[in-house]
Amino acid sequence: MAEERGLFFQHPRYRVDTGFYDKVRATNRQLVERFIVSPYNGRGFNVKRGQTFRVIEEEGPQVGDVAFWNADNPMETLSCLRTWEVDGWWLKVDGRLWSDVPWFRPMVTCIEDTTALAKGGEEAHYHFVASHCSPESQEMRSGRAGLNSCRLNLLQAIEPFGLSEENLRENIDVFTRFFVDPNSGKLYGGRTEADPGDYIEFYAEMDLLVALSVCPTGDYSTINTDVLWPLAIEIYDTDIQPEEFPQWSDWRHS
Ligand SMILES: [Zn+2]
Repeated sequence: MAEERGLFFQHPRYRVDTGFYDKVRATNRQLVERFIVSPYNGRGFNVKRGQTFRVIEEEGPQVGDVAFWNADNPMETLSCLRTWEVDGWWLKVDGRLWSDVPWFRPMVTCIEDTTALAKGGEEAHYHFVASHCSPESQEMRSGRAGLNSCRLNLLQAIEPFGLSEENLRENIDVFTRFFVDPNSGKLYGGRTEADPGDYIEFYAEMDLLVALSVCPTGDYSTINTDVLWPLAIEIYDTDIQPEEFPQWSDWRHS
């Protein structure tokens, strides 16, 4: 007899309102800013509550790393474990990225994804089980010091906003094809199947600082590569403000 298993967090109050995001998708979004982030670089940018932003494969297959902070309080940042707990280990359309307690609320919601693979199940293009590459992990993989890494690029991105290494914790990996062996729990990556023009679009549930790194692993087919492509960012107005997320009970002061 099969073991009985249940999903956590079934209460309807906290389920995603897909009808709301259908409205966001249907609205005529107005482009307010577009820029390119070149290889071996990172860039930070603000996205207002109710705006969307796209991370776009600009010229060739290229993976990237994206981190999020509440623009008004950088203590509130993406929590990959909370996100995994509620929405799964990879992001899909109508999936949300969550902050940790005491806030524990969606920071962004994915409203569009043009890559075909991410609509599958066992593999993902948008996951957060591999964190970001760092000088240490690059040295561990290659035996060489001095290689570029997403950690350096993300630090470059957030320094103009007054943030530093102590603020840099977790991120989502975009366009990175990845899967988890269900028996061993080990991670496997493969060359991205994202093509030029493919993008993922996020709806901002709060005022955000976002950081993007163009990962030096390129298309993810090999760890050290000289073939890198830029990524583009587009920010859009939607004229639709986010729905209020329910307030948690104030147990600390009651
Ligand atoms: Zn990287």
